[in-house]
Amino acid sequence: MHDNKQENDVRSELFYEQKNGYDVIGTAERLVMESYCEDYKAFLDAAKTEREAVTEAVRQAEARGFVPFVPGMALEPGMKLYRNNRGKSLLLAVVGKKSLAEGATVAAAHIDSPRLDLKQVPLYEDRELAYFRTHYYGGIKKYQWVTIPLELHGVVALRSGEVVEVVIGRDSEDPVLYITDLLPHLAKDQMQKKPGELVPGEKLNLLIGSQPYADAGKDRVKLAVLSLLNDRYGITEEDFLSAELEAVPGFRARDVGLDRSLIGGYGQDDRVCAYAELRAILDVEAPETTAVCILADKEEIGSMGTSGMRSSAFDTFMEDLCAARDVPLRRCLERSLCVSADVCAGFDPNFPEVSEFSNAPKLNYGMGIAKYTGSGGKGGANDADAETVARLRRFFAQAGVVWQMAELGKVDQGGGGTVALFMADRNISTIDAGVPVLSMHAPWEITAKLDCYMTYKGVRAAYELN
Ligand code: MN
Ligand code: MN
Repeated sequence: MHDNKQENDVRSELFYEQKNGYDVIGTAERLVMESYCEDYKAFLDAAKTEREAVTEAVRQAEARGFVPFVPGMALEPGMKLYRNNRGKSLLLAVVGKKSLAEGATVAAAHIDSPRLDLKQVPLYEDRELAYFRTHYYGGIKKYQWVTIPLELHGVVALRSGEVVEVVIGRDSEDPVLYITDLLPHLAKDQMQKKPGELVPGEKLNLLIGSQPYADAGKDRVKLAVLSLLNDRYGITEEDFLSAELEAVPGFRARDVGLDRSLIGGYGQDDRVCAYAELRAILDVEAPETTAVCILADKEEIGSMGTSGMRSSAFDTFMEDLCAARDVPLRRCLERSLCVSADVCAGFDPNFPEVSEFSNAPKLNYGMGIAKYTGSGGKGGANDADAETVARLRRFFAQAGVVWQMAELGKVDQGGGGTVALFMADRNISTIDAGVPVLSMHAPWEITAKLDCYMTYKGVRAAYELN
């Protein structure tokens, strides 16, 4: 005969059992979560490009007392500093009570997302319709980007040095742009192609006009469109040569599901973690260890460039902080902790075949911790050490963070990476952590509100408890 009660006690003591976050949090915390997610959706709508994310983050940071960090400033615990890197990436810090010789707590997320960039000579007319040529940015399924409303955001840098900001489509009164697809009636040949070849990159051309200019010359539709742009922004065709214009989905962030438990929005990879970090560093007051928040650019294309995580812009910022307290940068980095805050691939019951359920991150099970990412035999992974995982377990238990392990799909199913390895290259103990996403890299991605909020809580716990 078994003693059932005793057996259950042994089970609950010995087994690792995951709980749905809704079975863990109370009503009061649910209200905090809802309010956090309203703010997050507003951030998504305000920040559709890396530049807009920097602008919005600086606005929020300044409202909370952050000031630009100038080398040579005397640092006091509790000081709130930021450095805007070329308008495309952002570094923020709250000075801790402890010396930087004991390390910093760093959180690094990226604010660039897959999109369609305009080519440098983008404008053309074809049989009395006007178009912009594009070059896609990041890993996309090209067939998802046709037949949806697209907005145009970015900058045109003029020869004079003046920079003109362009936003077309955000205002509901504004027009949007569009890429056509073939009607099913005439798609017999197209539908025989492999999905990867269905929409070739060179066919991702934005339809931007059809009304001819009132004269008798050539390219009248192109001229009419250019004339409109010249009226609104004062630019000519040559100015596109020095422009960064990004076509992004023309959808606003909204609640998804009859119960409103999910969020749909463009660019949640990785602005969902960027916002969690930003809110955490805005909310943290006088931490023991200096808290650092990085909003990086160019992760989706390999973290290169001056605004990417491989750039020494981060090291320069840290070195300036360290110099203010006579601490060698290397000493600080080797004792620092970095949460590489990036999204993970949420388990999708519609496609169970690509994930191994026990190790896959599930919606509403909280912040996803990825000990390793990579592909094949963990190729290209940071693979955090067990001690760093344990450190986070300790913080999360103390702060009541709902979290889970998050493997990127079945072994040998594919793979991917984050900025984690570039942080580890700097001799910082680094671990991947973030929000599970469905339909990652699609024009409109899905997250669960509970996971968004828990990721904020997780980063804040690291800032406050490390
Ligand atoms: Mn990402
Ligand atoms: Mn991505």
